[in-house]
Amino acid sequence: MKKDELVTIKIQDMSAEGLGIGKADGYTLFVKDAVIGDVAEVKIMKMKKNYGFARLMTIKEPSKDRVKPLCPVARQCGGCQIQAVAYKTQLKFKENLIENHLKRIGGFTQIPMEPIVGMENPYRYRNKAQFPIGIDKEGNLRAGFFAGRTHTIIPVEDCLLGVKENKTILNKVLSFMKTEGIAAYDETNGKGLVRHVLIRYGFFTKEIMVCLIINGKKLLNAEKLVESLRQIPGMTSITINSNESRTNVILGDTIKLLWGQTYITDTIGEISYQISPLSFYQVNPVQTEKLYQIALEYANLTGEETVWDLYCGIGTISLFLAQKAKHVYGVEIVPDAIRDAKKNAQRNGITNAEFFVGKAEEVLPEKYEKEGIKADVIVVDPPRKGCDKKLLETIVKMQPKRIVYVSCDSATLARDLKWMCERGYELKRVRGIDQFGQTVHVETVALLSKLKTDKHIDVELDMDEFACCGE
Ligand code: SAH
Repeated sequence: MKKDELVTIKIQDMSAEGLGIGKADGYTLFVKDAVIGDVAEVKIMKMKKNYGFARLMTIKEPSKDRVKPLCPVARQCGGCQIQAVAYKTQLKFKENLIENHLKRIGGFTQIPMEPIVGMENPYRYRNKAQFPIGIDKEGNLRAGFFAGRTHTIIPVEDCLLGVKENKTILNKVLSFMKTEGIAAYDETNGKGLVRHVLIRYGFFTKEIMVCLIINGKKLLNAEKLVESLRQIPGMTSITINSNESRTNVILGDTIKLLWGQTYITDTIGEISYQISPLSFYQVNPVQTEKLYQIALEYANLTGEETVWDLYCGIGTISLFLAQKAKHVYGVEIVPDAIRDAKKNAQRNGITNAEFFVGKAEEVLPEKYEKEGIKADVIVVDPPRKGCDKKLLETIVKMQPKRIVYVSCDSATLARDLKWMCERGYELKRVRGIDQFGQTVHVETVALLSKLKTDKHIDVELDMDEFACCGE
């Protein structure tokens, strides 16, 4: 077998990244866009010693789990890795992914998995979109995405995961840029002005936020853009974010108000939240409510508990829990998010929640060691890299009765649960919640309970255990 050769294989498995896996003469091939069960002719693109990568050329026999993607550019875009897989099968895949990580990385043998919570409609579910602005092959200004390793944009003004309003907004931004002769940012030379358009939509309130991310400080004739955008029903916040650094990080640090207010509001369950451009907010509000309900159920509060919500963002989970707890403390690294969190407590009349800005791994140890603060229940909801080891160490020392771990990466979840379960905790419940249909991502909630034992808990850290997930 060699590069560029065509082979016919049966796809027998799927990788965590959503690549189909098959074998040709015992040699493993990873094939993007192939679905388990497909028999397909593939072209070998890259060969390594034990495995290689191939391109899907012709599907000879389609898998029974294969569906026609609704998006015309699903294959090129790559944002939806598994749009060609039937939604039911996507859910099964995600459930297996969580279970396999818990087995393989976590070393768990008995896994108390509860059925995954799927979406009723796995399209148009995102309340947030960040569209890059650039030029297409013909040199026209467009919004869309950059096709792998190129600098021309493939236009997609209507991503099917996002709301319909996105298209109207993008068209108005692009037409303003054309009339005013404003160039799109070009990452090859750092020239040009408009980099991205960030749009947020309150599913419940129907409020809209538009934030233009620019490579500069000023947008000339911005009032013309404002005049056009404010005609859209629900428009609430129009801002500019300056990002003059040559990185692929989307947002800079400063927000300037052009019109309206700097935030929008939305509601999850009984609680209303204000959301600023720089704050994190869950992208799928319908599933988020289910996620928070499960976290609340796992926390099993009676009204007497002191609860810590670490990585709290704008205080979403904290305020959900505060309705059923004695006191809730939230910790978050982004100052704007904590400002939102405090306002959110006020706007909902919640007086038993307090928020601190800082790294969870610094704030919690300090509060525990210097102020002797306690915790009956600890909730964590870290980014993909999982919890910092210093944080886990403090959590275990504090000995809360229950730990609720909300995770967007089941590999790091498994690593962290293993560590805590070796130090006096037991895995009681696990449940997947699909927040990201058509993609390989999945949210997981896990409940750990303190073992009733007087055994000395050794919290000395073994650094190697934290090396597994590419940190
Ligand atoms: N629980 C919230 C936010 C979860 S996202 C919600 O459901 O909306 C993870 C959050 O962790 C982000 O807001 C991010 O800014 C924050 N974060 C990242 N690293 C952190 C750290 N070391 N300490 C505290 N917060 C951190």
